[in-house]
Amino acid sequence: MAGTAGPRAAQLRAQAAAHSAHNYHPLPVAIAEAEGSWVTDVDGTRYVDMLAAYSAINFGHRHPRLVAAAQRQLERVTLVSRAFEHDQFGPFCAELAALADMEMVLPMNTGAEAVETAIKTARKWGYEVKGVPQGEAVIVVFDGNFHGRTTTIVSFSTDPEARDGFGPYTPGFRIVPFGDLTALAEALDENVVAVLAEPIQGEAGVLVPPPGFLVGVRELCTAHGILFIADEIQSGLGRTGTTFACEHDDVVPDMYILGKALGGGIVPISAVVSSAEILGVFQPGQHGSTFGGNPLACAVAREVIAMLATGEYQERSAKLGTHLHNRLCDLPESEVREVRGRGLWAGVDFTRLSGRKVCERLAERRVLAKDTHGSTIRLAPPLVISEDDLDWALDQLAAVVR
Ligand SMILES: *Cc1c(COP(=O)(O)O)cnc(C)c1O
Repeated sequence: MAGTAGPRAAQLRAQAAAHSAHNYHPLPVAIAEAEGSWVTDVDGTRYVDMLAAYSAINFGHRHPRLVAAAQRQLERVTLVSRAFEHDQFGPFCAELAALADMEMVLPMNTGAEAVETAIKTARKWGYEVKGVPQGEAVIVVFDGNFHGRTTTIVSFSTDPEARDGFGPYTPGFRIVPFGDLTALAEALDENVVAVLAEPIQGEAGVLVPPPGFLVGVRELCTAHGILFIADEIQSGLGRTGTTFACEHDDVVPDMYILGKALGGGIVPISAVVSSAEILGVFQPGQHGSTFGGNPLACAVAREVIAMLATGEYQERSAKLGTHLHNRLCDLPESEVREVRGRGLWAGVDFTRLSGRKVCERLAERRVLAKDTHGSTIRLAPPLVISEDDLDWALDQLAAVVR
């Protein structure tokens, strides 16, 4: 048990434990306020945030530009449903399509909904454009994937915690080892409509695939006339030092799935971004969401897109990311088995300590991070973090490991 919780935090934890489903195992910190890379708990203790809500807080907590965009929109109109047009919708779709160098956008709310949207798009495209027999479409996914928590998505998870006990499972998915192009090629028969991949697997522990893998996926998809769907919900929007992680390999997928940071840490908004031919498969009534593409979310996301369009956050992530990885590689080899990642994003495997233990000790030293599996932690500080704050947080990690 980390000795971080003050009296008020302990009370709040007990209340949450009694009245909320136990589907999370939070660290003993109860946050009351936040700004930039820092959060303050209910007892007044400050922590540096090295998780950034799994990359949903890429621009830091309450970035002034994003708060101002939200406030302006709160004074105008927040929700109309898609039954009517509104003045943020067209601009949002056009600006996001331009950022991704694509043509069309289909907005939803959560990441999982956008993944579901991509699956529906690929199946419909497979039947209508590729001519796969109805009900036979297959989507190839990778071992260790994380694409969300819906019943269909957990159907193709390989994590027993995420999947077991939630059947019957949705058919139509084929799982191959991440990074294995030979296995992928063997899995591609005439019923396959798409390959769905995280360009870097986040939940799995920030696993970067072997060099040439994404290029190989692109080539196989092109050769077989099937869609390459890149789930960039966590890896995208500046996290790895580029707008999209696929850019590191000069690979352009047929469809991006975005979420998390798109909402600027203020509202949930996700999207599928693709060509007019592919997203053109939808006709009125075939897909939708009451809150998807609402004016408030679109206004905040437009500001996010404008901030990314300058390239300044991507550059920061690349530069500070090099510093982060250099420092992580200086940690003692006896304690650290492996360091992976790109930009301001790292997975660190420990030899002796559990990821949970490291995160508890970090919290005692006022640094928030999150374990993924077993002996791994993930670091994903806000892209706005100062070099001094980053160094301070890494000093704490070095002290914990020592
Ligand atoms: C977080 C995440 C999702 C799911 O997003 P939610 O908003 O939690 O539904 C899907 N794919 C990846 C790669 C993610 O990191």
